[in-house]
Amino acid sequence: MDRSILEGDPHAVIEGMMIAAYAIGATAGWFYVRAEYPLAVERLQKAIQACKKNRLLGNNIMGTDFSFNVDIRLGAGAFVCGEETALIHSIEGARGTPRPRPPYPVNKGLWDKPSCVNNVETLANVSKILLKGADWFASFGTETSKGTKVFALTGQVEHSGLIEVPMGTTINEIVNEIGGGVPQGKTLKAVQSGGPSGGVIPAKYMNMPVCYEELKKIGSIMGSGGLIVIDDSSDMVALAKFYLDFTVDESCGKCAPCRIGGKQMLTLLDKINRGRGKKKDLEQLKQIAFAMQKASLCGLGQTAPNPVLSTLKFYEEEYTNKLLDGKTEEK
Ligand code: SF4
Repeated sequence: MDRSILEGDPHAVIEGMMIAAYAIGATAGWFYVRAEYPLAVERLQKAIQACKKNRLLGNNIMGTDFSFNVDIRLGAGAFVCGEETALIHSIEGARGTPRPRPPYPVNKGLWDKPSCVNNVETLANVSKILLKGADWFASFGTETSKGTKVFALTGQVEHSGLIEVPMGTTINEIVNEIGGGVPQGKTLKAVQSGGPSGGVIPAKYMNMPVCYEELKKIGSIMGSGGLIVIDDSSDMVALAKFYLDFTVDESCGKCAPCRIGGKQMLTLLDKINRGRGKKKDLEQLKQIAFAMQKASLCGLGQTAPNPVLSTLKFYEEEYTNKLLDGKTEEK
């Protein structure tokens, strides 16, 4: 989602960063982009060059006393480097691991200087809001979630791709009207929102407006803006295991709740998925998930249990159907 914004309109992001820099008196900015997104990097480089050539970036921009220089730092694709303190460490050339906050980056950030860390989508909106006004932006969306949101609509849906919709658009509108519905005559079982750390939203919530508050209420998040459509043939235990596998792999290992808890949850899920689990394993899954949510150092560990907890909440019978159920003794 952010990659496509950088590829499609890098100037919007640069302009947003320049306005932010002007507002807070910053003189230097960094774009942190995955090296695996070469087209985004190339277009961003070209756009920066064009700005420099036209004296929109650099020293004494357009003859004023405002100077602002930008640079691009390539990341190696670590999921945890989306966390702001890990991102800062990575730009500094250190290992990309989070640190406790406070101090927050606004007080002590890049090279210990006060820093403002923002997402690509946020920066891309800034110039439009300044041009058209806050009321224009607030006219889209819900009472508490304003504006529009870009989603990456994928999974078992007729038309996958990137979509931009006003906040508060319902799942039904997104999946059926924009996405063309579930293919091959199958029916919608759920939608998974928020990427690997998100949760599932069962089909019975089809008319739920997609916004920050409603997603939170149901145990999911906006996260990376991913919306994965799941049809009625999907195995929710296997799905939860798939996502947990990813977050365990991406855990930086710095704090024990995430490093050990994630691995333990994965072991239990694997046992259940192989038909070797017992009822007490479900309880243990919930307990470890609770500890991870409460004690992990960063958002990765705090949200990693979401796919497991939400599938357990809405599809517990799929877990219990896989349990040993007293027929065979656990080895
Ligand atoms: S929660 Fe996970 S990813 Fe975050 S600091 Fe702890 S071990 Fe690293």
